[in-house]
Amino acid sequence: MSLRFNAINNLANGAETKVDASPKITGIFGSNVFSLKTAREFLSDEAYKSLQSSIKASQKIDRAMANQIANGIRAWAESRGVSHFTHWFQPLTGTTAEKHDSFFTLKGDGTPIEQFEGDALVQQEPDASSFPSGGLRATFEARGYTAWDPSSPPFIMEIGNGKTLCIPTIFVSYTGESLDYKAPLLKALDALNKAAVDVCNYFDKNVTRVTPTLGWEQEYFVIDESLFNARPDLIMTGRTVYGHSSAKNQQLEDHYFGSIPERVYAYMRDFETESYKLGIPLRTRHNEVAPAQFECAPIFEEVSVAVDHNSLLMDVMERVARRHNLRVLLHEKPFAGINGSGKHNNWSMATDTGVNLLAPGKTPKTNLMFLAFFVNTIKAVHDYSDILRASIASAPNDHRLGANEAPPAIISVFIGDYLTKVLKAIKERVTEKMDETDESMLKIDIHRSIPELLMDNTDRNRTSPFAFTGNKFEFRAVGSSANCAHAMTALNTIMAQTLKQFKKDVDGLIEKGEKKEIAIMHTIREYIVASEKVLFEGDGYSEAWAQEAEKRGLPNVKTTPLALDAMVTEKAKSLFESNHVYNHSELEARHEIELEKYIKKVQIESRIMGELATSHVLPAAIRYQNLLANNIRGLKEAGLKDESYANQKQILEKISEHISKTSDLVEKMIEARKICNNMSDTRTKAIAYQSQVKDSYFDDIRYHVDKLELLVDDREWYLPKYREMLFLR
Ligand code: ADP
Ligand code: MG
Repeated sequence: MSLRFNAINNLANGAETKVDASPKITGIFGSNVFSLKTAREFLSDEAYKSLQSSIKASQKIDRAMANQIANGIRAWAESRGVSHFTHWFQPLTGTTAEKHDSFFTLKGDGTPIEQFEGDALVQQEPDASSFPSGGLRATFEARGYTAWDPSSPPFIMEIGNGKTLCIPTIFVSYTGESLDYKAPLLKALDALNKAAVDVCNYFDKNVTRVTPTLGWEQEYFVIDESLFNARPDLIMTGRTVYGHSSAKNQQLEDHYFGSIPERVYAYMRDFETESYKLGIPLRTRHNEVAPAQFECAPIFEEVSVAVDHNSLLMDVMERVARRHNLRVLLHEKPFAGINGSGKHNNWSMATDTGVNLLAPGKTPKTNLMFLAFFVNTIKAVHDYSDILRASIASAPNDHRLGANEAPPAIISVFIGDYLTKVLKAIKERVTEKMDETDESMLKIDIHRSIPELLMDNTDRNRTSPFAFTGNKFEFRAVGSSANCAHAMTALNTIMAQTLKQFKKDVDGLIEKGEKKEIAIMHTIREYIVASEKVLFEGDGYSEAWAQEAEKRGLPNVKTTPLALDAMVTEKAKSLFESNHVYNHSELEARHEIELEKYIKKVQIESRIMGELATSHVLPAAIRYQNLLANNIRGLKEAGLKDESYANQKQILEKISEHISKTSDLVEKMIEARKICNNMSDTRTKAIAYQSQVKDSYFDDIRYHVDKLELLVDDREWYLPKYREMLFLR
């Protein structure tokens, strides 16, 4: 029996994994995290203070202290039954990486002991040769090291075999260039902090720190594990390269409003429990639009912690799914013809005085501060939309962006009716001749109107890639499998740069003798005028918008290899270098790594398409073709008239046609791949893979294979069908 029918059979016998009644969240929350509170219990006063000031004020921890802290962490971990530790980091491959070491060691005289020294906490040298470095680190040297990031607390991962102490680290080359997602993110957050504090100080001298905040929304699909195992394409690429859409899809929208299926519900509760122990503050769970699609979202946190938590969550979701004989699909487009998955990044900035800088305030002064940050964000997105676009570019996200149920590849900003009016008023009423009375009028006006703008007032435009939603912006073009750090590094850097310029512009006017608040209003007005073409309130999915955007001169870069160009322009280099986020060689290296990832992903998809066509699809189709041919021959020999087997003949013709087309196109695709593989320039090769392999063959081959799926005897078809993967559980 084929894997497909085995899987369906197993499902029918349905074993549901039992989960314990959900424990009280507050009772377990953060129990696997070495938080400052835990540190208080396990560290001396001295060590605790050192750790605390390192977290709060980025101060260095000296060696003796590191030893003490390491000992404390080990004592805590051992008290929880942990014997191994690992430096945990987020390499550019897109998953998380670990290399486990044991506390166990032998002393000089052979006595076995368990120890964890400061050195082991602070720095490790994983064999890094297999992680992408974009040429930054010659492979023969293979030296990169992981360095402890005290701003992110150690935690215990206890899913699967054993329990492991994980030390969050950054990953850098021996010469100091960053090789991971985390190191540049921390630098971008630092740049934003400095620039934003400067601007805040126009309004409030007490602000000394600005922390960007992130609340992500993780979309995902869940399918049965045996069905998953019968789809080599899902195993290899995370998406189905073939599969005819099922008779019923998402058109009834019954999944979105339906209750969560019992088996998935058990899985959710289980991974939520694990997440709570790790301090991930998940709060919402619900069905999504497509069948078998779901979403979860946490309470927002500061960006660096939120990024770690998302990476950790994706890992936890995959591990826990296996306990339930399920598989979670984090790919942006696992199934053609139905919604893909995104990871909306809700982003704002908070001051250490407790103000959300993107929430309209209650007084004229705080409203002006809100307006400054609001308009600077729009300006940042306008000026650097190419960099934002590049930050979300990936092979899987190409399947989603611009498809008709995802934001387009055009970056625009939605702000809602109300703020559109406010900006219009500022544009019209802030004039050169504006005097004191105008100024106060304007302020009062804004003051009266903005507080009315509560969250439900910002219309729910779901089609915008970058939308203001009342007290935060929501960057919706981020892909479901992406590491949020990439988008967050870009967004916080462009914001830092824009705020720095804003400060210069305002100071310039003040030096010319303008009153501070008037200088601010004038600069805000100037920024509104300079960036208004990026504002769009209409249907982002429509063809009309694509045309309108083109008229406005907004870029619409549809493919990853071209979108990535924006990372290595002079503009990008000066942006990232002047904010100390990436130097030139780091940018070049990242560009190279992203292109290589793209090439590999398309190459793997292309190979699996070829292999499935040749070893799964064609044999089944040919067997059925034979059956029909024999049938016709038999009827003919029995002396029946032509009309009596006309239908069989017709089916036979169709099948034969699709068989020969499939086989022909697969051959040609293989030839095209060979040509690409001989190209030496990475960018040229990536573009060739996209245009000569993916765009030239994927859809065409799929068309014929999907036709065959409909024609061939169901019993002969070995790949689980869409209706089975999406509706059986
Ligand atoms: P929706 O689906 O309507 O967008 P959700 O409740 O699913 O709403 O998600 C909203 C997300 O926005 C949550 O993750 C929440 O934590 C986050 N969020 C709310 N306020 C802020 C903020 N100030 N900064 C960052 N994220 C925020
Ligand atoms: Mg949202």
